[in-house]
Amino acid sequence: MSSSILNAALKLGYVKAAPITGHPFEVWLSRVKGTNLEGFAFMYDPATVSGWPIDEITIWVAIAPSPPLAGWPEGCGEMGAHYVSLQASRTRRTAWEDAAIEMGYKIIRDAFLPERAAAIRAGLGVHGLNGLMIAPDYGSFIDISILLVKTAPPQNARGPEYDLSPGCNKCRNCICACPKGAISENGVDTQICLRSYMSKPDQLPKEDYPKMGRRIIGCDTCQHVCPSNTAVKQVQPSEDLANRLKLETLLTNPDVCPILGKWNKPAYFKSQAVLAAVNTGRKDLLPLIEALVDDEDAILSERAKWAADQLQ
Ligand code: SF4
Ligand code: SF4
Repeated sequence: MSSSILNAALKLGYVKAAPITGHPFEVWLSRVKGTNLEGFAFMYDPATVSGWPIDEITIWVAIAPSPPLAGWPEGCGEMGAHYVSLQASRTRRTAWEDAAIEMGYKIIRDAFLPERAAAIRAGLGVHGLNGLMIAPDYGSFIDISILLVKTAPPQNARGPEYDLSPGCNKCRNCICACPKGAISENGVDTQICLRSYMSKPDQLPKEDYPKMGRRIIGCDTCQHVCPSNTAVKQVQPSEDLANRLKLETLLTNPDVCPILGKWNKPAYFKSQAVLAAVNTGRKDLLPLIEALVDDEDAILSERAKWAADQLQ
């Protein structure tokens, strides 16, 4: 039976999949203590998440490539690879869940579990200093999916004795490249990583506005410099995506991607585009930015005032 779940995953485009036991993710829990992920600590115990006894839990973990993007055209913002492939990722995971149900398994849809920790337990990769999982052959540009199934773990399911990852080669490239200095020998400080400010934009210090560059959502800098990604094939952003991310469009009528959920708010995209306009010297966009100075969104209004001053 377990080979059927594996085969279904491979048919859907995952490149690897493996089962693990449902023991709590204690190592992950100790890592998130004191970080902005602490609020998700409840995810550490699959028995709590599912309501099933531990010996009736199998967690399948699968990875699929999430290709890095390169060559963003001038005049548009940039989006991280994870967000670009989010829609495809969700569709693929749902199809995997559907396939398991069709096979007669009871599952929890969209189970909330620490995906990287599960993938490390499964032996699909190691922990990088940049906080991401690095998979042999695929690097850190991967999408990780989880399938929580009510069935006794198969004999080859790995348990918590594999949770302490040996880690990456610690070359320090990501430490040197991070614009926020968020990475150290101890790992990534998620409180000050640029990605974290995208979910708490009111807390981005003004002196860090230039560090946003033209990032609209996501930051892949620490992945682009990682030697584990050297052989990973980069792809060009589609024309449609590049058009949606043109700064003129973002500043007036943003419609990036409904799948982005909480980020798919016009004021969010406009406020990121305002920073990108300054950071790329777009004086021609000043009239569009001045039109946002009195916006009812306090963050957008504040950034627009700052940007107007910078561009005048
Ligand atoms: S850049 Fe070097 S130190 Fe950073 S995650 Fe990659 S291998 Fe590890
Ligand atoms: S995502 Fe960007 S800001 Fe965050 S740790 Fe990596 S390089 Fe630094």
